[in-house]
Amino acid sequence: MDPIRLLDLKREYEYLKPEIDSAIERCLKHQEWVLGPEVERLEKEISTYLGVKHGIGVSSGTDALVISLRALALQRKKQEYFSSEDEIITTPFTFVATADAILRSGATPVFVDIDPRSFNLDVRLLERYLKSKPSGVVGIISVHLYGQACEMDGVMQLAREYDLFVLEDVAQAFGGKWKTSMLGSIGDVAALSFFPTKNLGGFGDGGMVVTGDDDLCSLVRMLTKHGGKDKYHAEHVGYNARLDTVQAAVLLVKLKHIAEFIDRRRKIAQVYNDQLSQVKRILLPSSLPEAFHVYNQYAIRILNGKRDALRNHLSRGGIDSTVYYPLPLHRMKLFQGRARMAGPLKQAEKAAAEVLSLPIDPFLSGADVERIIDQVKKFVGGCL
Ligand SMILES: *Cc1c(COP(=O)(O)O)cnc(C)c1O
Repeated sequence: MDPIRLLDLKREYEYLKPEIDSAIERCLKHQEWVLGPEVERLEKEISTYLGVKHGIGVSSGTDALVISLRALALQRKKQEYFSSEDEIITTPFTFVATADAILRSGATPVFVDIDPRSFNLDVRLLERYLKSKPSGVVGIISVHLYGQACEMDGVMQLAREYDLFVLEDVAQAFGGKWKTSMLGSIGDVAALSFFPTKNLGGFGDGGMVVTGDDDLCSLVRMLTKHGGKDKYHAEHVGYNARLDTVQAAVLLVKLKHIAEFIDRRRKIAQVYNDQLSQVKRILLPSSLPEAFHVYNQYAIRILNGKRDALRNHLSRGGIDSTVYYPLPLHRMKLFQGRARMAGPLKQAEKAAAEVLSLPIDPFLSGADVERIIDQVKKFVGGCL
């Protein structure tokens, strides 16, 4: 039997081949590789799609985070960088880039534990930390992990109360919503990633900053181009961090199909939910009623310490699965002595030990999904 990959991008390419090939061919004809017409078009189409005034193409999701924070330091503190007394709160259960960006902006990350149901920041614990020590905190990065919204009403209310900025990390949740708002349109600014495995993925690295704030937009744009209005008049410590034309060309094609691909992900998730709901000692991903989940990952939890055994079992059956993330950030060497912990972070540790992402490629066949479900059930029947 053919192996089942987590994500098989070849099938998506075959499906989109005529459109993508002609989009790339147009680039080959015009040869405007840096800030070509496709970049501006993508910025317009994405900002319109998200209902946000500005979109600024950047070279990766990581750069989108770093540059957003640098722009916030310039706007709010009139400084190139934050200082280490400035705290930025985020979750320890995310990709390293989220908190690494905080360090690179000069601030200190503070990890607040997650809500075990959503895997995102626990707003009650966030409030508890702010009440106990509000003075040094300047902002919050809310991550919408796996494609599900962080509880944004609570985050925004606390941000207003304590005068904090909110940066949304939408890397895994493009197209997702909190109530009726698109993710990325709620905070002061948001970072998108077009890494190939994200819901809207390019043919290499890419990202975008979106914001409704004119001032932040112009700072972000300057920082992506060596810190000046043009590269011969630098004002700030900038980067060369633009989105490539050819990536924008590919992404414009994929953006046209995003609703269809999200719909396929949600349908596969629904089949998993229906078929695995009766299985003992497996917790399915909960979907908050306020959130429109776009399932960049379908992460189940396996109780009884059998996660790695299930992973091996699936692998023997030719089925890929993976763990996002085996090590919560407060355990990572990078953050030792560089970040603070708001409490013991027990839920993040538990999640790191229990989660397993099953394949949720929009191009999985019904038979593939059945095969995955059968193998999970077989393992549970024998082992848990
Ligand atoms: C992928 C990801 C990033 C970084 O995006 P890149 O485009 O890979 O730099 C940041 N945060 C989260 C939560 C991610 O999943």
